[in-house]
Amino acid sequence: MDSPIGGEEYLFKIVLIGDSAVGKSNLLSRFARNEFDTNSKATIGVEFQTQVVEIEGKEIKAQIWDTAGQERFRAVTSAYYRGALGALVVYDITRKLTFDGIKRWLQELDTQNDSSIVRMLVGNKCDLENIREVSTEDGKSLAETEGMFFMETSALDATNVQTAFEIVIREIYDNIS
Ligand code: GDP
Ligand code: MG
Repeated sequence: MDSPIGGEEYLFKIVLIGDSAVGKSNLLSRFARNEFDTNSKATIGVEFQTQVVEIEGKEIKAQIWDTAGQERFRAVTSAYYRGALGALVVYDITRKLTFDGIKRWLQELDTQNDSSIVRMLVGNKCDLENIREVSTEDGKSLAETEGMFFMETSALDATNVQTAFEIVIREIYDNIS
């Protein structure tokens, strides 16, 4: 865990995990730069982006890690998880398979991190209501069973993206202060 420097500065590592094409990279670009890419191109190069958030007058640096597409090969390395205090575990509400895949991501997270990591289940692409395959109730229920926060988001229209990240950051902050 990164400790506050001079009681003023905080650095929280947060990882994005979930199957390929659920929208992880777009959730990050929406949160960090308020941008969305319509093209499904592989994430290249960028390991993480840092976003500054203020809580109770304290400056928090949220260092959000995105995969470089290695989740396609189930090859997310332990370095990716190392030191993470939070995780957004993402599925696509229009593809049931990505929801079924959540259990495996949670298992991987468990083996890589201690149990104190703050976890949020994220059902992304909620703008695509007409082709939804996973109900909000099923998402909520899984999150409850697993003891996670839950949110449905849209990186496309920005619904709940800020909120999802901020809840995780806030909870990490509350746990350590
Ligand atoms: P990643 O592989 O999990 O990083 O997923 P990407 O961020 O690359 O997104 C995969 C595809 O889904 C891209 O074509 C995006 O434009 C699209 N996408 C991502 N988020 C959303 C969303 O909230 N709504 C819709 N309609 N499409 C999205
Ligand atoms: Mg990506």
